[in-house]
Amino acid sequence: MLIQNDQFNIGHICTQLQCELGHADRIAMRWIDAQNSRTDFTFGDLERHSNRFANALSALDVGKGDVFFTFLPKMPEQFFAFLGTLKIQAVCGTLFSNFGEDALLDRLGDSGAVGIITRKSLYKKVARIRGKLPALRFVILVDGDDDQSAGVYSYARIMAEASDSFDTQPTSVETPSVLHYTSGSTGKPKGVLHRHGSLVSQKATTEGVLGLTENDIYWCTADQGWVTGTSYGIIGPWSLGVTQIHYGGGYDAQAWMELLAAEKITVWYSAPTALRMLMREDERIFSEADLSSLRSIFSVGEPLNPEVILWSQRLLKRDIYDTWFQTETGAIMIPNRPGIPIRPGSMGKPFEGIEPAILADDGTAVADGEQGNLCLKAGWPSMFVTYLNNESAYNSKFKNGWYYTGDTARRDSDGYYWFMGRSDDVINTAGHLISPFEVESALLEVEEVAESGVIGAPDELLFEKVVAFVQLHDRYQPSKDLEIKIRLHVSNRASSIATPQDIIFCDGIPKNKSGKIMRRVLKARYLGEDPGDTSTLEI
Ligand code: AMP
Repeated sequence: MLIQNDQFNIGHICTQLQCELGHADRIAMRWIDAQNSRTDFTFGDLERHSNRFANALSALDVGKGDVFFTFLPKMPEQFFAFLGTLKIQAVCGTLFSNFGEDALLDRLGDSGAVGIITRKSLYKKVARIRGKLPALRFVILVDGDDDQSAGVYSYARIMAEASDSFDTQPTSVETPSVLHYTSGSTGKPKGVLHRHGSLVSQKATTEGVLGLTENDIYWCTADQGWVTGTSYGIIGPWSLGVTQIHYGGGYDAQAWMELLAAEKITVWYSAPTALRMLMREDERIFSEADLSSLRSIFSVGEPLNPEVILWSQRLLKRDIYDTWFQTETGAIMIPNRPGIPIRPGSMGKPFEGIEPAILADDGTAVADGEQGNLCLKAGWPSMFVTYLNNESAYNSKFKNGWYYTGDTARRDSDGYYWFMGRSDDVINTAGHLISPFEVESALLEVEEVAESGVIGAPDELLFEKVVAFVQLHDRYQPSKDLEIKIRLHVSNRASSIATPQDIIFCDGIPKNKSGKIMRRVLKARYLGEDPGDTSTLEI
């Protein structure tokens, strides 16, 4: 498929180019809502809807380099908005629809977003913080019948007034494209900025790892709020003219198996927590399911335990290919894939053109079999371009031409990579990275809370769970009601996935002499292990 050198625009390649290649009448997206009603959108439809959105945004004075966000659950309008925003060379950020006010304020504020598309029920959260977002000029409501007030517009109105033809200007590889915020262990979330040239890696891995061709029917369960949802739920497959199933319902083993069967899905990309949930279900659901169309299953986001692969081999009669990547890498870097024997528990071997290394902190290579920092030779097409407004954090991730991923891993003598953990305190719960700092900040907003320390602890289902140590002000006592209040607060301010599973009331939070919370000590306390060297402990 021809991508012209001066036209790397993701929006263009996923829509207009597909029409030019003769795919205008092919189904690009079968949208299945939570009530199971189906609506098909062809590549021609995708082209016209995204063109309208591009024209509508231009009419609202959004232009090249401006940041625009989607804040929606999975729904067709989100895809049209994403592609339309990219067509005008504005940067498109996607916000997970569970985000609370603090999470929204951090992201919309840091990026200086000029506009956002959302729906009425979610807009309430934005309305409460709008006064703190001077750059945010307007909000588009997908379910707003009429413009509600100045700066709150109806999607139906702006789309009806916009033309469905749009001339996408030539877009270079370097032009900024997609923005996802990622959580670190300290400080605010960082805006990972990508460029239109990232499509080269996303397309290559969609072909070379997921094995998708024009004849496939593909389902990616990831939410578009995260990198898998944009790289492999939008860009990779549509750049190849592949038909995607997008499903608006939540987790339901029976419904999922029926979907795989009824839609004759050939390739399915999901995540370990969902697969572990399936493992707990009645086996009959799987033995009775007709999965004859299903060619391969892939997984990403957290370590995939060997038991899940063995379960799948036994009941689904297929392997599950685990793949490794992260927001910053933009595309799959180290995957298992058909043609390479799986070693259950390993994330596989590097994709063509990707050069990983296991390095010690001083930058020297460690021997095969030994644990070290998982690094990648800088320079692949979908490598992030910066952390928005935080060039120093970006630079700190690179040393001598190597990108330090923040993960630790080992390589075996046959070249397979094995994930060991994170080299920082970031918590991975159900495939979502959670910053302990963000949860601690939310906890400190609760009137009764004096100090807090948050850690991730092993969990059979979620991989890790969020555990909060909480010290109350002297005049308050721990209680079940207070636990509920704390959980609700974190859910409203950060997100429901950041809500602590365990809350442990304690008399003090261990800190070092410079006041840094010693999460290592809290973790050892929680697990009943030896905390190691505590010579710098203050409390
Ligand atoms: P995110 O940037 O939110 O996509 O999260 C990326 C992080 O999730 C990685 O740095 C890993 O810590 C973890 N991760 C992603 N895929 C895998 C995998 N296949 N195995 C183990 N950890 C993974």
